[in-house]
Amino acid sequence: MSKNISLKKKIPVGILGATGSVGQKFVELLQDHPWFEIRALAASERSSDKTYAEAVHWFMKKPIPPDVEQMRVSACEPDLPCRLVFSGLDSSVAGEIEQRFAENGYVVVSNSKNHRMKGDVPLLVPEINSEHLSIIESQKFGDGVIVTNPNCSVIGLVIALKPLIDRFGLDAVNVVTLQALSGAGYPGVSGLDSLDNVIPYIGGEEDKVETEPLKIFGSFDGEKINNMQIKISAQCNRVPVSDGHVECVSVKLKQKARRDEVITAWNNFAGVPQKLELPMAPLQPIRYYDEKDYPQPRLLRDVDKGMAVSIGRLRECPLFDYKFVILSHNTIRGAAGGAILNAELMLHRGYLS
Ligand code: NAP
Repeated sequence: MSKNISLKKKIPVGILGATGSVGQKFVELLQDHPWFEIRALAASERSSDKTYAEAVHWFMKKPIPPDVEQMRVSACEPDLPCRLVFSGLDSSVAGEIEQRFAENGYVVVSNSKNHRMKGDVPLLVPEINSEHLSIIESQKFGDGVIVTNPNCSVIGLVIALKPLIDRFGLDAVNVVTLQALSGAGYPGVSGLDSLDNVIPYIGGEEDKVETEPLKIFGSFDGEKINNMQIKISAQCNRVPVSDGHVECVSVKLKQKARRDEVITAWNNFAGVPQKLELPMAPLQPIRYYDEKDYPQPRLLRDVDKGMAVSIGRLRECPLFDYKFVILSHNTIRGAAGGAILNAELMLHRGYLS
C-alpha cells in the first residue's frame, strides 16, 4: 500500500503517441494501475478516428486490454477528457504538441528529447533528483506543466552511478552501449539491417548520454539546476535484442573503494519512490549479480516489474578504477514505467490535484 494516498476516484489520463513502442507500453502498464485510468489515446492523423485495435500494430506479449481495444484514437489536440497526459510522441512532433498541451493547462509527462534540457523542465529520475520537480513552479504555462524522462540509456546509467557518486565521488565515465531494437520505435530498424548485425551508430544518442546525466545529478538551488561536472565518453550501438539496453561502463572514482563496498552501495541503494512505496517503484532499484555471465537482457530485463537496474561483472579497470556491465529495460524503466513513476511522485507532491 502506498503511503498517504487515498483517491475517491482514479485520475483520468491520456496517452499521446499511444500507437508507438512506448505508447503501447503505457497502455500495458496502466492497466489496473491503482491511481490512473486511461481515458484517451491519441496519435497521428494516420491513426485518428480508428479504433485502437485498428490503428495499432500491437507487439506487446499480452493481447490488447479489452477496455482500450475499441476506444477511438484521437488527434493530438488539447481537447482530451483528462488533465494528465503521458507522451510517447515521435520527437519530430513532440516539442510543439507537448508545449501546446501544457499551454492549454495539461500536465505533460514526456519521454521525448525536445524539452529535456530546458532550464525550467525537470529531467526526472525520482530515485535521484526528486527535489528537481519543484522547478515546474517556475514554468510559464499557466496551469499546465512539462516534466521529462531521460533518454532510455541514460536512466540505467545514472541509477548505477548515483550510489557511487554518493559514497565515493565520481570523476569520469566511459560507457559503451548495446541498445535493443525496440529503442528505435516501431517499425524502427529494418530486419535486413538488424539481423546478424551490430549498427555502431544511433543518431544523437552519444550526445544525450554525455550531457543528460550532468543535469540529472545537478544541484537545485531553489531557482535553477546547476549541472554536475563529470567527464563522460559514450559510444552507442544498436544490437539485435528485442528489449533491454546493456551498457559496459568504466568509472574513475574520487576516493578509493573496495569491491565489496561498491556492491554494497548498489544493493543498499534506495530513494524517495521506495520510501513512499510508489506503485511503479522497484522494491530494490539496483541488483548486483555474482554470476560470471550476467546481466543478460533475456533473463533479467523484467526483474522487479522491469524497473530494476541489473549490474554484474564488477572488476578492476586498468585504465580507470572499476568496470562493470549494466542492464535496464528501455521501454519500461527507460520510458513508460519511468514516466508513470514520475507522475506518481507528482501526485504525491500535490501537483495533480
Ligand atoms: P514510435 O514507435 O515511432 O511511436 C511514435 C508515436 O508518435 C506513434 O504513436 C505515432 O503515431 C506518433 N506520431 C508520429 N507522428 C505524429 C504526428 N505528426 N502527430 C501525432 N502523433 C504522431 O516511437 P517510440 O519508440 O515509441 O518513441 C516515442 C518517443 O519516446 C520518442 O521521442 C523516443 O525518442 C522516446 N523514447 C523511446 C524509447 C524506446 O525505448 N522506444 C525510450 C525512451 C524514449 P502513428 O502510429 O499514428 O504514426
